[in-house]
Amino acid sequence: MADDTHASAQQGFSADEKLARKMAQLGAQQKEQETQMLGYSAGLPYVSLVGIPISAGALAVIREGDARGYRAVCFLETLGEKKIGVVDPYNEETKKFLQHLQEEKHDTFSIFVISQNSLESALKLYGQIPQIKEDIGGVEITESDIEKYGSEYADIRTLNEKLHDKSVTDILTIIVSVALNTGSSDIHVEAEEGDIKARLRIDGILHDIATLPLEYWKQIASRIKLLSGLKINIVDRPQDGRFTIHYKNDKVEVRVSTLPTGYGESVVMRLLRSTATGLSFEDLGLSPYAHKLLKAEIDKPNGMVITTGPTGSGKTTTLYAILNYLNSSEIKIITLEDPIEYKLAGVNQSQIDADKGYTFAGGLRSILRQDPDIIMVGEIRDLETADTAINAALTGHLVLSTIHTNSAAGAVPRFLAMGVKEFLLAPSLNALIGQRLVRRLCPECKKEAALDAPTKEKAERILHGISPLAGVNVDFLKLKFWTAEGCDACHGLAYKGRIGIYEVMVMSPEIEQLILSKSASEYQIQEMAVKNGMVTMVQDGLLRALEGVTSAEEVFSVAD
Ligand SMILES: [Zn+2]
Repeated sequence: MADDTHASAQQGFSADEKLARKMAQLGAQQKEQETQMLGYSAGLPYVSLVGIPISAGALAVIREGDARGYRAVCFLETLGEKKIGVVDPYNEETKKFLQHLQEEKHDTFSIFVISQNSLESALKLYGQIPQIKEDIGGVEITESDIEKYGSEYADIRTLNEKLHDKSVTDILTIIVSVALNTGSSDIHVEAEEGDIKARLRIDGILHDIATLPLEYWKQIASRIKLLSGLKINIVDRPQDGRFTIHYKNDKVEVRVSTLPTGYGESVVMRLLRSTATGLSFEDLGLSPYAHKLLKAEIDKPNGMVITTGPTGSGKTTTLYAILNYLNSSEIKIITLEDPIEYKLAGVNQSQIDADKGYTFAGGLRSILRQDPDIIMVGEIRDLETADTAINAALTGHLVLSTIHTNSAAGAVPRFLAMGVKEFLLAPSLNALIGQRLVRRLCPECKKEAALDAPTKEKAERILHGISPLAGVNVDFLKLKFWTAEGCDACHGLAYKGRIGIYEVMVMSPEIEQLILSKSASEYQIQEMAVKNGMVTMVQDGLLRALEGVTSAEEVFSVAD
């Protein structure tokens, strides 16, 4: 635990504060000059550590107890060199201690002379930190913590009141444990005007989980910075760091970013689970009808399969699942990504670097010379990339990519607006996929519930629009919708996990004609696709709602 009494005693000015401060200042200046002289006599450089930034990594080179006992601190850590400040360079015990430490760390130590004042200013940094761990990059939050807190704080609705009697060290551990147990993607901890807000992003949505006293800020921020290798005493500039948590045979990488704000800082921790790669094509949650349609298109040896949707709609995940399905040793797959989100075994993944001129368009031409069977291009956003991708699709390659439009049909006018020739686009397209993510109702606490009249009317109208060719039967006399109230299994959120809702548009002679006409609108293409049997995203979502997988409200919040 932190020991702040040391620091506050130093600042305990009494009645005649101004004079006392002035005296102290003069005294301190004199001490610094004496220290400089000591440096000359010992043949060592002098440095003042007051107010200079010291990274947590540097600080951790010497443990707090040793730093106090031997009056020595590490204040700078570079590759192969550590700079150590000592108050008494003639002390034999200190010399012996540093000698041992240097051998243990296999590192070069450069020794500087520092004043007692410098030492104390550095020791205060330890004081802000609950615990200095020798291995900063490793496991600070243990698996047993995560399991214990996971069951103790199952329902996040009651988390805040339960935190009241906890220490600052425990609070951060609890928040991170709850984040891991709820499958959160991000932890936000922000200093606000009167307090600290902690929030978790779970299944795409931010939830307030705790409000803490502002006095805790320094310690909470320091502990996060210590864990992630950031400089503890820098609060006025953004910093980026990371640490790793070992959990359930998985490594969770936590990427930390800090940003100065009006009331302190905002800290965001992104949790990256390394085993998120296992998504299979079967697990995408496509309806049997869409599954069959899409499977036929990705089994073809050539052509383009394009997923559409806004950021965060899961379109890249869908491409990875398709690649997982297609991946085999007889087939050469090359990807061009920005960034590479998951590593796929047996796939040649290539990272775009626009600053070095390695763009989607240029990269695509290069990988075509590598004789691939299947190409995945992260995103098509310009004519050059589109033309090269289409050319590849027409010359015997299966090309997978994404395009940023709201619906499957919207991809056609987008390609044409880029300047793609309609007579090249029409024959190169296999399938266009539109998709959104919706939260899945908690299976433990979901129950049937009637919709309010306008929502019910809207849902029925949309379901009536499903094409007879889609092969879907809806019993309009027995429409059932569902809701949930929240329980321990879903951490009180009523939802648990997400699934995709999809529309899969495949080419038909009528749609090809519309593309070749050049003037067809997104609406006309969509209408024709529905006539041909396409189930739209919102229809697909409502069918899932009738099955009790999600709620109608959730579907309408992402599609209509
Ligand atoms: Zn539940």
